[in-house]
Amino acid sequence: MADVETHLNHIGGKWVESSSGRTYTIANPARRGQVLGEFQTSRGEDAHAAVEAAVEALSGWTATPAPQRAEILYRALEIMRRRAEEIARTITLEEGKPLPDARGEVKRAMNITEYAAGEGRRLFGYTTPSEIPETVAYTTRRPLGVVGIITPWNFPIAIPAWKMAPALICGNTLVFKPASSTPLSAVKLMKVFEDAGLPPGVLNMITGPGGVIGDALVSHPKVDGISFTGSTEIGSGIYTQGARTLKKVQAEMGGKNAVIVLEDADMDKTLAGIVQGAFGSTGQRCTATSRAIVDASVYDSFMDELIRRTDALKVGDGMDESVTVGPLSSQDQFDTVMGYIGIGAEEGARLAYGGHAVTGPGYDEGYYVQPTIFTDVAPDMRIAQEEIFGPVLTVFKARDLEEAIELANNVKFGLSSSIYTRDLTRAFRYADQVEAGIVHVNAPTLGGEVHLPFGGLKASGAGAREQGTEALNFFSEVVTVYIDYAGARTQAKFI
Ligand code: NDP
Repeated sequence: MADVETHLNHIGGKWVESSSGRTYTIANPARRGQVLGEFQTSRGEDAHAAVEAAVEALSGWTATPAPQRAEILYRALEIMRRRAEEIARTITLEEGKPLPDARGEVKRAMNITEYAAGEGRRLFGYTTPSEIPETVAYTTRRPLGVVGIITPWNFPIAIPAWKMAPALICGNTLVFKPASSTPLSAVKLMKVFEDAGLPPGVLNMITGPGGVIGDALVSHPKVDGISFTGSTEIGSGIYTQGARTLKKVQAEMGGKNAVIVLEDADMDKTLAGIVQGAFGSTGQRCTATSRAIVDASVYDSFMDELIRRTDALKVGDGMDESVTVGPLSSQDQFDTVMGYIGIGAEEGARLAYGGHAVTGPGYDEGYYVQPTIFTDVAPDMRIAQEEIFGPVLTVFKARDLEEAIELANNVKFGLSSSIYTRDLTRAFRYADQVEAGIVHVNAPTLGGEVHLPFGGLKASGAGAREQGTEALNFFSEVVTVYIDYAGARTQAKFI
């Protein structure tokens, strides 16, 4: 432990210890013995200090013209570009995903920073003719104020970045509470913005337990908005609690994303998309593919090839460039995923591939689980309904498109979804009827582009969408302005 670095909170432009005087450590999920750092176990008082710093910085940041705010984001982008490999390696060490996935995540953070910086010269309102003579009517945007950013561990750089960048360009000041298991990536991101010249207090960070400091942010009267990503359980609690103090809240939550495979699909493309969607990033993505619904006429050949391709994946330490499936990110995740595999077997589903922890030389130090496939899954089984958040795919047979859509919609979640077919009529019918916030045709359920809205229906999302212009709408308040320039000649009469 002697050479383990201790990292601090960032409040009002200074790196400071938490008021608790206590710290905690995190370790590499691929090699449990490798401690990566020591972090502050903050308390409610630290959250309050961070909110006060954000309140103090608000007027100066709001008064800074948006194109000047953008200059700082462009500098942050440049710094991220220079540090991209170092940041990607930090993600892999801390979260476990293979390096190519981590590099993709850093790219995603850079893309949203660039996109938000560009918005600094737009941030449009609109003008429209007034019904009153000699009156100008227009809308303008103001920042929400102080915003709490609460994020999960599975994208420890990209998710914070896609909240921070649009929030900052709109003129808000922020308190960032990263997931407890990935604070090192958060520290790296904070250093990027600090080195880019963000004024003190505009972006503050506190590490520590969500139940304590996350809650302190959500209940704080001077916090005007909360942007949360994580589980449906915590997100719905935050949404309810935020409403009590009339905060604007967006909550991006879990998924149980389905791919429909019709008999006319390009099978090579379909299988590549499903294997990547289900097992890439070890299935620890909110947009991961967790269900495949396959036309009965091609089911047998689909399954043979699915198993062949899954068998070709390489499980291991994500730092090894040839690895395609990294470890699960923590003991909790490992226990949850192994628990669901046991539940699937008990419920009577057929284990078609995998189902075990990976052990032996090189594996004993990490949270490794085989990519796992269940068939003969009944729609009401827990493994068909609940989010597993690991490399577990459930496969169903369907008679036709109608039955496939019914199965796809038969869950409480509605984040992302996909269909593989060459038939435009059925593709559009599916796009009209599937209950998901993100719909793909002939592409995996994964991800999205930063200039388009991201988020889910049903239990997957509450409040405004993230990214694209929707993010600007969430992070700003719209004010409507009427200017009567008629002087004494007329008196406006509003109804
Ligand atoms: P959690 O919901 O447990 O945690 C998310 C964040 O909320 C963490 O920073 C956590 O802090 C914090 N938190 C915990 N309790 C509270 C509380 N009472 N008040 C305020 N904040 C709190 O989820 P996980 O981090 O475990 O992430 C996995 C889940 O997130 C999966 O279900 C996944 O689907 C979902 N997710 C959804 C995404 C989407 O875009 N829809 C994207 C990524 C993940 P701490 O770490 O200290 O507990």
